[in-house]
Amino acid sequence: MNSIIGHEKIIYFLQKSIKNDKLNHAYLFCGPAHLGKTTIAKNFLSEILCEKKCKKCIHCLNLEKNTHPDVYFINKEKDKKNITIEQIRFLQEKLIRHSFHGSYKIILINQAETLSLGAANCLLKSLEEPNPKTIFILIAENTNLLPKTIISRTQILKFLPVATKDIVNYFEKQFNLEANQALELAKISINKPGLAITFFQNQNLLEEHKKQIREFINFPQKNLNEKFQIIEKTLSTKNEFLENIKILQNILSQWDLIIRDLILIKNSLNIFIIHSFLENELKELVQNYDENQLLQILKKIKKSKEYLFTNANPKLVFENFTLNL
Ligand SMILES: [Zn+2]
Repeated sequence: MNSIIGHEKIIYFLQKSIKNDKLNHAYLFCGPAHLGKTTIAKNFLSEILCEKKCKKCIHCLNLEKNTHPDVYFINKEKDKKNITIEQIRFLQEKLIRHSFHGSYKIILINQAETLSLGAANCLLKSLEEPNPKTIFILIAENTNLLPKTIISRTQILKFLPVATKDIVNYFEKQFNLEANQALELAKISINKPGLAITFFQNQNLLEEHKKQIREFINFPQKNLNEKFQIIEKTLSTKNEFLENIKILQNILSQWDLIIRDLILIKNSLNIFIIHSFLENELKELVQNYDENQLLQILKKIKKSKEYLFTNANPKLVFENFTLNL
């Protein structure tokens, strides 16, 4: 399913660029996962090649089959840490040649933050001296990991979480969901349409997610020894460094949401909490904190995330954060 939910301004901007023939040679779609960056990028490149998406022309037919000879997808290979310089060189060799259908050549680079330094430098040459009728679309969750030289060569489009009403409307219209069911999906997916759709299609995953949050809520009651054991297990040394950073970022984001829920409950604003399915447990947990402590924890979460950006050891950051819970 390739539904687009929200992001009207970005879509309007991109469509206007096509209409006015004001296409940039490089775009950077950035923002957290599950917001629809890739879906919109694919839609954008389809419209560049066939504005009406007629489904009949050579472009549309090739795109449908994922075999368009002028469209290149660069992904990090599964067993590799980075997008490699070889991948970029290979691409550049192809870009020198004429386009097959006399149209634009479009390159979509997923997880651009995983470009190796060599690959990024190599790519930079293409961005600095762009071939005519060639468009790069870079997709990244974390632009802090992208070289500034690359970023400065792109038109940046920042993706933000989608408005609750857009997600609710979508599920009501497309799947005839009741408003409260749609609202629960929007909330638990923290306004990320991709995640909402995944949860809707895969109830097991949703249950697993709920179970995980329940474990989070039980975490503060555990003794220090148990807590450190959990940290040890969560941020295993078997994982790659970057993987552990990502895991901890997610944990901290999840805690951020839980603490915000606790603050709402403290202020009798229970109807606004995200984890309404855990309202009773949260009500119990909130008794352990006063509002000032909760605000301090929020600050600590923000600080911990900043440490992670400076490549601090994730385990130390997690242990340190835990002492405040
Ligand atoms: Zn077409």
